[in-house]
Amino acid sequence: MSDHATTATATATATGQRILLEHVTKRYPGQEEPAVADVTLEIPAGSIVMLVGPSGCGKTTTLKMINRLIEPTSGRLLMGDEDVTSIRGDELRRRMGYVIQAGGLFPHMTVATNIGMVPKMLGWSRARIAERVDELLELVSLDPAQYRDRYPRELSGGQQQRVGVARALAADPPVLLMDEPFGAVDPITRQRLQDELLRIQEEVQKTIVCVTHDFDEAVKLGDWIVVMDRGARVVQYDTPERILADPADEFVENFIGSGAGLKQLTLTRVRDVELRSAVTVPTGSPAADAIRGMRAAGHRHVVVLDERDRPVQWLSERQLGRSETIGHEVDGDLPVVGSGATLNDALDTMLVSSAGAALVVGRRDVFAGVIDVETVMTAITKARESAGATTADAAPIGSTTGSGPVAQGAGS
Ligand code: ADP
Ligand code: MG
Repeated sequence: MSDHATTATATATATGQRILLEHVTKRYPGQEEPAVADVTLEIPAGSIVMLVGPSGCGKTTTLKMINRLIEPTSGRLLMGDEDVTSIRGDELRRRMGYVIQAGGLFPHMTVATNIGMVPKMLGWSRARIAERVDELLELVSLDPAQYRDRYPRELSGGQQQRVGVARALAADPPVLLMDEPFGAVDPITRQRLQDELLRIQEEVQKTIVCVTHDFDEAVKLGDWIVVMDRGARVVQYDTPERILADPADEFVENFIGSGAGLKQLTLTRVRDVELRSAVTVPTGSPAADAIRGMRAAGHRHVVVLDERDRPVQWLSERQLGRSETIGHEVDGDLPVVGSGATLNDALDTMLVSSAGAALVVGRRDVFAGVIDVETVMTAITKARESAGATTADAAPIGSTTGSGPVAQGAGS
């Protein structure tokens, strides 16, 4: 399991394995109450499970017991069907990538050396490590030629975090553990990194356990959410949809906070709603043609696309009237969202741009349409109507969804 006979590629990877914590308890010396008290929890293979709860409730301790950076005081830990409670800790950790805030990179090592660390320990050849490093940099959207020889201090916070994710994936482990991975970056970068994690997960299908104190992040990223209280007591373990629609108790309600309806926006992706069409013209077109097309369609703006169909300008009739042909310049302030972005993100982008609308791009940033506030309002209404109507499928052990096996310390 821990040796990799074939060269791993980003498209043919070891997919996730389920994890099971059985009656796991952690008592720190000198502490009256256990930090984690008898937790039973299954993390389904290939899914993202978010651990949320107030500070000090035991999230990090729970996470670190999964790769046994912290040894449980009692209880059992299974990976797939294998009992890994007492196998060698470092062997277990090679099968589980670990991502912490700000990437946790070694400052004196280059990006390539950081990423190649575990493969090197596993005895991969230099050529194979170099190939893997480049492949992973591509995966996290960093140009290998530009970044592989840089040092962490030469990177932005977001870039360091990307390298941290690349490093965790280096030896293609089936499991990824993340502890508040996006806590140290600004909101815009955080949103991008979240989108990127979801895109990467579509490709790699790992089992991901991610700690956050941000409920919105949990809703956005999680296939499942575990809401924890002190002692890592599982108060509710369910899908984001059902937690929002039917919080188990007042604790969960408070944790969700106000505006649960608005949080539905985080559950819907831009690609899931019907976009508005737009009049598009290529750069270099005569302005008169653009104005004619715009009037014929009854629109007030045209979207200017470059030679690869990426939006570069968004012009009103008045702006078009300023010159005879449309130039090739790129408007750096265009309100653009990816089709994988949540409606919440789209709304943010619209409000920041004050355009009341945003341009949507798909793969390779190709223009896909326009999303506006009205589109978002319609989606909120729809989401409200369908909330809670979903049924539990393959509920994990420890979940509180009703159809799963009985949860330990779960529910009321
Ligand atoms: P969270 O990640 O949810 O904020 P932690 O798992 O870090 O919570 O901590 C859970 C509880 O265990 C807290 O009360 C914390 O003070 C305590 N704790 C964490 N690490 C240690 C340690 N090494 N020694 C003693 N107590 C600890
Ligand atoms: Mg923590």
